[in-house]
Amino acid sequence: MCPFCGLLCDDIDIVSADGKLNAVSVNCPIAKALYHESLNLPEKPAEIRGRRVTHTDAIREAAQLIRKSKSPIVAGLQTDVAGARSALALADRIGAVIADEHSRSHHLVSGRLQTYGGFLTTLTEVKNRADLIIFLGDKLLSQFPRLLEWIELGTNSEFGFISDRNFAWIGKCSSNDSARFEEPPLLLQCELDQVGQITSILRASFEPRRNVVPSPELFPRKSMNRLVNLIRDAQYSVLLWSTEDFNFSLGDLAVDAIFRLIDSINRERRCAGMPLSNSCATTTVNQVATWQCGKPLPLNFRSGSPEFHPTQYAYDSILERNDADLVIWVGGLERTVPAFDTSAELIRISTKNPGHSDVFIPVGVPGIHHSTHLFRTDSVVSLYQKALTQKKCASSAEIINAILSELDNWSHVNSNFWWNSIRPD
Ligand code: SF4
Repeated sequence: MCPFCGLLCDDIDIVSADGKLNAVSVNCPIAKALYHESLNLPEKPAEIRGRRVTHTDAIREAAQLIRKSKSPIVAGLQTDVAGARSALALADRIGAVIADEHSRSHHLVSGRLQTYGGFLTTLTEVKNRADLIIFLGDKLLSQFPRLLEWIELGTNSEFGFISDRNFAWIGKCSSNDSARFEEPPLLLQCELDQVGQITSILRASFEPRRNVVPSPELFPRKSMNRLVNLIRDAQYSVLLWSTEDFNFSLGDLAVDAIFRLIDSINRERRCAGMPLSNSCATTTVNQVATWQCGKPLPLNFRSGSPEFHPTQYAYDSILERNDADLVIWVGGLERTVPAFDTSAELIRISTKNPGHSDVFIPVGVPGIHHSTHLFRTDSVVSLYQKALTQKKCASSAEIINAILSELDNWSHVNSNFWWNSIRPD
């Protein structure tokens, strides 16, 4: 199983050539690059303020920084099920805010579902049942390079429920992307922030209204009509978008317009949404938070019980307000490391160390250096992957559990240190 995007493709061949493992045959540039990078991850020492130290010393120093901190935040969360459980246990234990990088985009969908409900589907149902798939956005095929393999008929229609499938694209579809379809999709070319406008106009065609909603000249009427007819002719249409793409100002209105169109089409025929998450870690940590606390991220444990607020406790809001004196960055699956433009102290538990950390503790990549469970983007499948290499790299969960044990030792001699309910296992 490939852990490098939300699709979690489970057909990756890892081959050994010249004494090195690699995934050369996979038809995906992201997987090729990240398998290569991860399988050749150089060994890194633990560090305290740039000075090499043993793991034990780094863990002790991390526990010491946590003890001194008054308002810590557990962030990043580019980790697996075990890492998310341990991170939540740590946040609960020390009264921290816990927020993943993509909680705002995740909330665009989860918030809509909580407030108004909505129709979503799974990748398997898209694969086997959808006779019309509408892509929304700009970069779906570069963010999910094997998406078409997942949903193209012929390779994947195991049950033969449908014999034909049409594609449409609202947004920007490059000529390279268009050429990847057997037949080019019906294209409604627009900017990303106009997708909501187009879906609202389309919705008028599926609602009992007296007045015709005029289509702005910007969007060709002929293509709009063709798309309306395609939807009318389809038994089961699916609208597919990348959640992270819609994290722009008023992106929530665009996502709401998509859900409203789905609701309207469902008056007479079947339609569902399929939001895709770029990172399987986002889906995974939110699943774990929901089953452990009954709420998704971001959560604040400072009052002693988990409080949810989608914007107030978002990672960027906390840093902007300078409301954290310590950032505990939990990584493993991150492709890049964000800049820390903050005066807060930093404990980095990660594969990467670009410097500026007060404590750096190296870990391995889930599914490469240690066994892992991760949730696929549609949240209905959790996949297991055994470690691929014998190279010893600790997991984020192991490091956080070691920090928790260090805090335990200390709490035995300091009865004021509180003890909360979430356990890592
Ligand atoms: S599409 Fe995503 S999960 Fe599949 S091989 Fe590429 S990066 Fe991995």
